[in-house]
Amino acid sequence: MSEPVHDLAHDLAQTFRDAVGHDPEGVFSAPGRVNLIGEHTDHNEGHVLPFAIDRRCRVAVGRRADDTVTVRSAQEPGATVTTTLGALADARGWSAYALGTVWALREAGVPGDDGWDLVVAGDVPLGSGLSSSAALESAVALAVSDLSGAGLDRHTLARAGRRAENDVVGAPVGIMDQAASLLCRDGAALLLDCRTLESEDVALGLDEVGLATLVVDTRVRHDLADGGYADRRAACVAAAEALGVPALRDATPAMLDALEGDLLKRARHVVTEESRVHRVVDLLRAGRPEAVGPELTASHASLRDDFAVSVAALDAVVEAALEDGALGARLVGGGFGGSVLVLAPAASTDRLTAAVRRRAADGGHPDPVVRAVHPAGGARREAWAPGDRD
Ligand code: ADP
Ligand code: MG
Repeated sequence: MSEPVHDLAHDLAQTFRDAVGHDPEGVFSAPGRVNLIGEHTDHNEGHVLPFAIDRRCRVAVGRRADDTVTVRSAQEPGATVTTTLGALADARGWSAYALGTVWALREAGVPGDDGWDLVVAGDVPLGSGLSSSAALESAVALAVSDLSGAGLDRHTLARAGRRAENDVVGAPVGIMDQAASLLCRDGAALLLDCRTLESEDVALGLDEVGLATLVVDTRVRHDLADGGYADRRAACVAAAEALGVPALRDATPAMLDALEGDLLKRARHVVTEESRVHRVVDLLRAGRPEAVGPELTASHASLRDDFAVSVAALDAVVEAALEDGALGARLVGGGFGGSVLVLAPAASTDRLTAAVRRRAADGGHPDPVVRAVHPAGGARREAWAPGDRD
């Protein structure tokens, strides 16, 4: 079991005191996320259905009396990055996620000539598809917005995190991860319209019926991932143009008859995936989370056969999980490696873990890392205040 949250906030405040020499003004945290369904729908202006997970990035924060900004992270031991308010956008490497967010917030109107000390510690695994990057950005965004008195709304904070990642880190990501980290409510997924950014909570109700979710990191990442992703995005734009719609979100199944070959397959994935998102929402709202399983598996088949972004290591995990009693499983993220999400009876997770590891070994794939993830609440200020001691 994970440690009580307040202990972690206390520990981080102590780390801040040791490093900076006085109490922080506050401790904030934001979660990682997993996307239940809606893969490659985001860049087609469709819907996604992520939920925040019980792994978080925490940041202890204090203002300074000069224009210096410092950031340290327990995940990057030994490295204190020091810069100034005027040079935030020049940040590189891991610190760009945090410093880029401070820059984007200032661009969004957060005032002040005072710098910041940021001390970070998180338990979202880095680079495993659970969005440690958005957890870091979202925790920093909420902290700086609140402590500066700007009190920006959470959509604006999400846009600032995305802007940090797009413009300072240089990663062409959408807004799903930051939106999930900032807007999700405990026990619920977030139905996010990637065109309008409107969102609604959808209660998951997994615990109530004895279901659990596992994320299996295959530890495989193919060299063609970036090129493959760009190629699929371009195919979607081309298909939308051929159909005369602004984005594939606007295409109907009947319209697909006008396409053929690879363009047809790529578009068919997006159109069917968009309807799977809405079916899953309907099932959850009807109190039938167990019926979501086949939709996840259908999503995987579509990503494998039509969108062509699966690889053998992902397919092996999905097959082994289904053979061993999972209700559904699918690759999550862009594809060409990465992780698989498994929906399964909570009582079977140990056996399933053994089964997918065995199958990976039999197939000559790397030993996967299997993590149970539980729905959790979005970014928040932790119940720690200056002067709090144990
Ligand atoms: P993901 O978001 O799926 O975990 P990314 O490649 O988008 O993977 O982001 C991971 C990167 O974010 C890390 O390599 C690191 O640079 C940065 N990062 C995330 N969390 C932290 C942290 N707690 N401390 C330092 N850097 C972090
Ligand atoms: Mg990320």
